[in-house]
Amino acid sequence: MQKLRSTLRNIDGKGYKGYKSLQGIFQFQQYKLAIDYVQGDPFASPSKVRIIVPNKAFPVRKEWIQGKQRKIYTEDVIARSVAQAIRNNQATVRGSGKSGLLSIDAPGQEILDRTAVTTDGSQTTICLSVGLPANGRRINGREAEKLFFQIIPDIMKQSIFSIKNDEIEAFVQLADQQEAIRKAMKENNWIAFIADGAILPRESGISNRPLKKAVPFQSPEENRVSIDLPHRDEPLTGMALKQGITVIVGGGYHGKSTLLTAIERGVYHHIKGDGREYVLTDLNAVKVRAEDGRKVTHVNISPFINNLPHGEDTAQFSTENASGSTSQATNVMEALEVGASTLLIDEDTSATNFMIRDQRMQELVVKEKEPITPFIDKISQLRNELQVSTVLVMGGSGDYFDAADQVIMLDEYIPHNVTEKAKEIASQFPSQRKHIDKSFGTISNRRFLPNSLDSRKGKKSKVQAKELDKILMGRVDIDLQQVEQLVDVSQTRMIAQILHHLEQKGWLKQKRSLNELLDEIEIQIDTNGLASFTPRPHEHPGELARPRRYEIAATLNRLRTAKVGD
Ligand code: ADP
Ligand code: MG
Repeated sequence: MQKLRSTLRNIDGKGYKGYKSLQGIFQFQQYKLAIDYVQGDPFASPSKVRIIVPNKAFPVRKEWIQGKQRKIYTEDVIARSVAQAIRNNQATVRGSGKSGLLSIDAPGQEILDRTAVTTDGSQTTICLSVGLPANGRRINGREAEKLFFQIIPDIMKQSIFSIKNDEIEAFVQLADQQEAIRKAMKENNWIAFIADGAILPRESGISNRPLKKAVPFQSPEENRVSIDLPHRDEPLTGMALKQGITVIVGGGYHGKSTLLTAIERGVYHHIKGDGREYVLTDLNAVKVRAEDGRKVTHVNISPFINNLPHGEDTAQFSTENASGSTSQATNVMEALEVGASTLLIDEDTSATNFMIRDQRMQELVVKEKEPITPFIDKISQLRNELQVSTVLVMGGSGDYFDAADQVIMLDEYIPHNVTEKAKEIASQFPSQRKHIDKSFGTISNRRFLPNSLDSRKGKKSKVQAKELDKILMGRVDIDLQQVEQLVDVSQTRMIAQILHHLEQKGWLKQKRSLNELLDEIEIQIDTNGLASFTPRPHEHPGELARPRRYEIAATLNRLRTAKVGD
């Protein structure tokens, strides 16, 4: 501690590079401060420091970290308290560039495995980013002293050293409850559960917070189930969706897409007060949509697309610029390739010709001239042959009534089970369309070749998440805008980190399929943690959160430099 103070006084007023001498570990009264990385200048991305708090200063109870889930929630609530203390902190540091900037990778509405805070039962580590203060390009040692000896200690005092056991226990209990719901889902073959009282709509298109004055969710009687939850007296009731084919119908603006989006997001767990804390979905549910313009590399889309005009091979389809229907077919096939067990589809983001074709069109454009086998002719095979469920929003066509196992109608945001009525209508007005009833077809099992990944940019190697939906790899951008279940930029950073790691460690040189590669990645995260993908896993690993295998695959699949072989 004294050493840090005297060093700061020594380098005060000197060139900014002098800060490099701070790299190291300093003992404070209640914690160690590790300065892992020092920025090159005041305008560069901020320096990385860790606060390491031993158990005697912050006793972590065993039961808080019992099991993976509880541990993640305990770490998450601590990260939230640090973020809150940073927001509340009044003291400021003056200077040029990023002087005095202080941040933690604060969690949003989801509770994700992230590197911001980790606790292992003997110590708790808090990862911060800090802009070391400067005047112009000279070290401002006084302000740095204030930062390390006043501001950071204050923030620790107001977060980790004052967080109440109750606050942590509330998170731990939520972890238990969400796990209990997942367990009930598994036992009963439900692919989604939406609790009565859940708030599904969001404040706005760009906000992830609950809409105030929303109509709370209310389950239809036919789908209502009740689950006994720990830490709660009353059982929780709500709507369960069984495996199979669910079609969501209803008038425009009655809340169909809102319900589907909540189901999409239910692969993640949300905090209390989010409104979706008891909305959970099959962890292997993947939203598939049209995404014209995307790159496709050797995907077998022949179950849906055949006989393209120029004789292109759709069993190994590649393009730099997919159309609406070919991109949606690709998205379905790629999700299946890596293990999706539920597909989520909204008419709003689908290619019409991929979803439906009615009798009249079948008459006019003969089968031989139509490359597309619409999804409606494959949805039952998905269920019957591959045990893949579908939840589909379709307000514009009743053709799916025949295939549906259940039909849910939204009426002013309230769902009703109208399966019987829909089936009656289907038999009263039989669809005259010709149903093509072939088996589903084959799914690719591709291997990405080592030269797919190239992070070189001049002499430097660089893979970087620019924002939530963009990764820069060497000279190319990977566009993730339409990958809708990527929710946190820290997940994107983790994916970038994984790509870099795969390249550096030559993972693609070994003969394994994309699917096996994802298994390996998941095993490494499970056993060694997110930080094990970074160059210095025992230091500040950067601001990372865990992505799903589907979003890692989605990134590789959109790589414009991808090369695929057997
Ligand atoms: P649809 O897909 O059926 O056309 P949306 O899901 O897009 O309808 O919803 C239309 C509007 O209604 C959106 O602005 C949405 O935020 C709002 N909304 C959805 N569900 C609710 C609800 N339960 N309470 C209040 N507003 C809602
Ligand atoms: Mg809609």
